[in-house]
Amino acid sequence: MDPFANALTFLSSIEKYLSPETKPYLERLKKPHHVHTTELSVKMDNGETKTFTAYRSQHNNALGPYKGGIRFHQNVSESEVKALSLWMSVKCSIAGIPLGGGKGGIIVDPKKLSPGELERLSRAYAQFIAPFIGEHKDVPAPDVNTNPQIMAWLLDEYEKIVGHHAPGTFTGKPLEIGGSKGRTKATGYGGVFAMKLLLEKLKQNKDEVWAQKPVSQITVAIQGFGNVGYYFAQIISDLGFNVVAVSDSKGGVYVKDGLDPKATLECKQDKGSLGGCYCIGGVCDLNKGKPVTNEEILELDVDILVPGALENVIHKDNANNIKAKVVVEMANGPLTPEADAILTKKGIHIIPDVYANSGGVSVSYFEWVQNIAGYYWEEEEVDTRLEKLMESSFEAIWSKYQWLLKEHGEDASLRLATYLLSVERILESEKLKRP
Ligand code: NAD
Repeated sequence: MDPFANALTFLSSIEKYLSPETKPYLERLKKPHHVHTTELSVKMDNGETKTFTAYRSQHNNALGPYKGGIRFHQNVSESEVKALSLWMSVKCSIAGIPLGGGKGGIIVDPKKLSPGELERLSRAYAQFIAPFIGEHKDVPAPDVNTNPQIMAWLLDEYEKIVGHHAPGTFTGKPLEIGGSKGRTKATGYGGVFAMKLLLEKLKQNKDEVWAQKPVSQITVAIQGFGNVGYYFAQIISDLGFNVVAVSDSKGGVYVKDGLDPKATLECKQDKGSLGGCYCIGGVCDLNKGKPVTNEEILELDVDILVPGALENVIHKDNANNIKAKVVVEMANGPLTPEADAILTKKGIHIIPDVYANSGGVSVSYFEWVQNIAGYYWEEEEVDTRLEKLMESSFEAIWSKYQWLLKEHGEDASLRLATYLLSVERILESEKLKRP
């Protein structure tokens, strides 16, 4: 599947629901403003020079500077960065933050580079994008295989070029050089908050029998146990929910009575993967656990399913086997469009990725605000502000969803409501700024 063609298909499908005033502007979102491409030359440790294809896609800036991560991965393509930049426009808009959409990437397997090669590649990328980025122009961040250390190299190289401090040009930085407190857990924290808000609404509907249970009986399965999956598991477990299964790339573990995410993480660190944790006795409480594969975890009979690792894991061949009542899309694009249609028809509530995982970019926005103001917040302030953003977006999505249910019956879904609201906000700004 061509990722950008996929993104455009969904964008076109919302056209018929847009207001007559905004509809004419939709065409503007079907193409990024700019796609910068180059070949980076990097000196390798053995003295040879290697070239790497690099991109920066700037999709739309009607709401504010372009914003989005930089991905280092062998599968990066122009189509992928274009699609991801479009989704960033939608994500920032639905999060209610004054930023647009962008995304960058390099075709590289960074695991094959030495630390020195990785630093030289990162600095070469900063030189490439320096003319197009800036605190009020385009603000990159980490994405797959990039991290705070890489942001520090990019910022250093950028500041050397422009000749002054500009910490707000990159987010996801280490705390010591202007990162924000609360960023590490932000995506999981925001996702759990979104889940709680949905549950409160569902509880008001007596037909949703499962939602009436005490939280200790509400079961949760989470695919992916990295930054997003681990914090989601830990935070929801601290709230009393029953996390029964988690998995990483090598498989997972199922514990009927619930597992302790912290102990599970220790076990994973000890054993190298979750796959071996089920058989540990005594000291860790996974001793009654059973192994599950990454295919099985998705099909468990749980109340809440959280795909938090990869894209396209729920597709037309397994969608009919999904038993959860709620799917929280913490990964980007975990459902194919066919799966989305099947689950929606089955009455499964899907919290769409662009909203569910927006806690990360929202705290990146807070980081940018703190850098520009030169004034830094405590973690409690970051968390409270994030909760407020998640809540106001949710209320807006929910009322759009109610309107869709009334006007368009079975076409209604939280994803459609989210996209409509988000895209209309961008198009309203287009209309005002560039009529
Ligand atoms: P990460 O690298 O920290 O963790 C990824 C996890 O997925 C690891 O536990 C890994 O073992 C697991 N995994 C890899 N292949 C797998 C497979 N085949 N089956 C099951 N698990 C597998 O990454 P992350 O930051 O947690 O990101 C996870 C997802 O969330 C990605 O789709 C990312 O784009 C999305 N996301 C992340 C953030 C963020 O702030 N980190 C924000 C928005 C969206």
